Amino acid sequence: MCQSCVSEQSGNKITCADCGEQTTQEKLLIDRGFKNDMQSLSIICSFCSWTGILKTYQSHLDQNHSNPTCDSCDQKFNSVNDLDRHKLFSCEKTTVVCPLKQCGCEEMVLRLRLAEHYISDQHQIVLAKFVRQMNSILSTNIGNHSLIGCYQRTDIDANELEKISRTMNILSDDIKILADELERLAIERDQIHNKLQSFIQESTILKKSIEEQKTCIDGITLNEERTEQDLSSLEQNLNTMNLNSYDGTFIWKITNVEEKIG
Ligand SMILES: [Zn+2]
Ligand SMILES: [Zn+2]
Ligand SMILES: [Zn+2]
Ligand SMILES: [Zn+2]
Repeated sequence: MCQSCVSEQSGNKITCADCGEQTTQEKLLIDRGFKNDMQSLSIICSFCSWTGILKTYQSHLDQNHSNPTCDSCDQKFNSVNDLDRHKLFSCEKTTVVCPLKQCGCEEMVLRLRLAEHYISDQHQIVLAKFVRQMNSILSTNIGNHSLIGCYQRTDIDANELEKISRTMNILSDDIKILADELERLAIERDQIHNKLQSFIQESTILKKSIEEQKTCIDGITLNEERTEQDLSSLEQNLNTMNLNSYDGTFIWKITNVEEKIG
């Protein structure tokens, strides 16, 4: 168990990140022999090209990198530990690869956005595929010890395996329901698309017929104007005809007298 893992956890109970075993603060002992071995390990500085043994690394860090900068967001920190913590928990720009990268989810994700990524379509599809694969592996290998070798865990027992298998079955049922739902939605989408298409066609036809009617109305208006002209010339003709009286005397009917006298 490393020192920073221990100091990262609050409370008296400490859980080891490697084996999951719980222990109390008091029971933790510093492994002196191990510590000495570690001190003489030769390492490369994670900020520059410096190489040396671990024992002198801290002083190198203090001298050359006393204010380490986050290379993702340019924020400055007082110590390398603070920077590490920032990168792990609070940097808004540090990107990480999706844990399912090996399975095909190859997107680089902002660490803070991982939760959002996990519920994205893309990730869910990869996850569904992964669960299905795991399920088929489990169902063909249940009780078979080659599976245990495959996951390099010797502490996994048949009960645990069965429990996992049951969970997998439930998950794959859920996935089947989701897949059916997806298929139904796709069909519905196609139907809506078709309806929209025929609606567009209908509205084009309607538009054309409105244009035709407009031309027709224009024609009618023109005819009306002509009829009006015809009517007024007919009236004039009638007026001229009225000049003839019926009792044999001939009377002039003079129209627009004033105009003619004046
Ligand atoms: Zn540890
Ligand atoms: Zn350095
Ligand atoms: Zn940062
Ligand atoms: Zn993913």
